[in-house]
Amino acid sequence: MRLFEYEGKALFSRYGIPVPRSKLARDESQALSALGEVGLPAVLKAQVLSGGRGNAGGVVLVRTRGDAEKEAGRLFALKVGGEPTRALLVEEASEHGEEMYVSITLNRGRREFVALASRSGGMEVESRAEGAMVDVPVPLEGLSDSAASELGARLGLSGKTSAEFRSILLKLERLCREEECELAEINPLAVHADGSLIALDSKVVLDDNALFRHPEFSQLPPEDPLEGEAARFGFAFVRLDGRVAVVGNGAGLVLSTLDLVADAGGKAACFLDLGGGAQRDRVEAALRLVRGLPSARAVLVNIFGGITRTTDVAEGLIDVVSERPMVPVFARISGAEEAEARALLSGSGVPVYATAQEAVLAAVGEAGR
Ligand code: GDP
Ligand code: MN
Repeated sequence: MRLFEYEGKALFSRYGIPVPRSKLARDESQALSALGEVGLPAVLKAQVLSGGRGNAGGVVLVRTRGDAEKEAGRLFALKVGGEPTRALLVEEASEHGEEMYVSITLNRGRREFVALASRSGGMEVESRAEGAMVDVPVPLEGLSDSAASELGARLGLSGKTSAEFRSILLKLERLCREEECELAEINPLAVHADGSLIALDSKVVLDDNALFRHPEFSQLPPEDPLEGEAARFGFAFVRLDGRVAVVGNGAGLVLSTLDLVADAGGKAACFLDLGGGAQRDRVEAALRLVRGLPSARAVLVNIFGGITRTTDVAEGLIDVVSERPMVPVFARISGAEEAEARALLSGSGVPVYATAQEAVLAAVGEAGR
């Protein structure tokens, strides 16, 4: 689950990482009263989970109250990557020079966390020249003072900046470990003229499997709560007004399934792409999500698992359908351990079909046209 910038910054504050003074506003009038507290100049920041916000015009510096009024209106109407602005963060503007990058992230390939940093952070940090990033592995028991100092030294930091960098990095690493994050990123980490540092942005991704241990992460009431939910899991999700909820892995597969539903005379209740891997927890989250679609009369799950263990998918389906009553689920599951998956599902009330066509016909038959 990805946190909003303001949620990530609240977490930073709790761990002693310096952030600008700010106030969250859920509408234009709240934005203007927040401005009264924060003062001018201020930065207005659209709260969205999608990336590329700065480039999409979602971050703006305002110098006058008139500017702020105009920009707040624009930002509340803005969509970033199709996602509407959920709230505005009204923040004290920072006067700074350099913008650095620092993060603690899970390196799945090496099965360990790694601390990454760069002198040239800011927008589009991904496209910077190779070699601009330095990294040190983070042992499970935590980052040592000396490793944190080493990273700062490799960036060429000295004096006050070097000391602050070490302290922020150690705090960020503790946050990542204690809150069970997959990623805790500060970009930009701004450098003031006196050498001090401040986190101007936050990107925090919590491990979904550990969320039950962190009930405090509440969520904003988004325009469409299901879309908000979907964004948090990284699903591509579009609510439609038909009766068959379509869930699959891979945008092409889900789109072609929508075509099959239409060919069969049905209408889809949603498009939900789980993304590449179809792990059990994601399948479960997707089913719980589409359970909330009022127009759906059937759910069609189309998983094409090359390397996906379909037994995991089957177990996920069984978990969710046995949790509480829901509309019938129809499945087409192909991939590793397919026969075992089918055996698991027999008797679960979830019919499994050999082809997508058959599954579609059954789902449309159930849902009606
Ligand atoms: P992102 O595009 O979603 O990553 O948005 P950020 O919060 O990282 O902001 C994008 C850019 O806006 C940053 O790289 C900064 O250059 C600039 N920015 C953000 N906050 C401030 C601020 O308080 N003062 C100034 N001068 N620039 C800011
Ligand atoms: Mn950023």
